[in-house]
Amino acid sequence: MQIAKGRGVRVMIDNTFATPYFVKPYTLGADLVVHSATKYIGGHSDVTAGVLVGEPSLVEQAKKKVIQLGMNVSPFEAWLTTRGLKTISVRMNQQSQNAAEVATFMQEQPGVKVYYPNTLSDHGNGAMVSFDLGHQFDAYTFFKSLQWIRIVPTLAGVETTVSYPLKTSHRSIPSDLQKRLGITEGLVRMSVGLEDRGEIIEELRLALAAAKK
Ligand SMILES: *Cc1c(COP(=O)(O)O)cnc(C)c1O
Repeated sequence: MQIAKGRGVRVMIDNTFATPYFVKPYTLGADLVVHSATKYIGGHSDVTAGVLVGEPSLVEQAKKKVIQLGMNVSPFEAWLTTRGLKTISVRMNQQSQNAAEVATFMQEQPGVKVYYPNTLSDHGNGAMVSFDLGHQFDAYTFFKSLQWIRIVPTLAGVETTVSYPLKTSHRSIPSDLQKRLGITEGLVRMSVGLEDRGEIIEELRLALAAAKK
């Protein structure tokens, strides 16, 4: 942020994963902040919406464009979004605690590399956990062995879900860049929900046992 400011470059942050509950980039100096409200702000996987926060003059420009392009959110979706927002603190508390436990459990598995932040905020680190199953577990069997955790193209709902970045969200990235970003055959992205922590861990334990090479 300092580097950009020194050169008169505007900074825009996608704060979707961190959520405004954990991090508020505008108060930290960002010019614009975008949130996919489809994710944690709505929180129930039943709305497509977005939020733009920042410099009033920039937000005003963007608002004009949105109206011209017809991207306005419908009244019902706006209502669902604000209704979801009311519970963001309780959801994020529970989901981030669950996620921390998942991250710790996965870290204990042989050859598994876990991606989970630990300095996002002093009251939690979000609910997205990625892990690379490495060479000791077969990713295909892992996915197939999940009993109730579903493979979905979205994330951040109240239910725990998983996705396979290599073949979905990150499939169009050139393969050398995929490698550099750690988008491998073994990479699983997990959106941890607010179910009972023990049940999530047990589900993972069973899938890992089946997927062990
Ligand atoms: C899903 C997502 C988006 C796109 O948001 P939509 O509401 O689905 O258009 C942007 N950034 C991140 C980090 C996301 O996860």
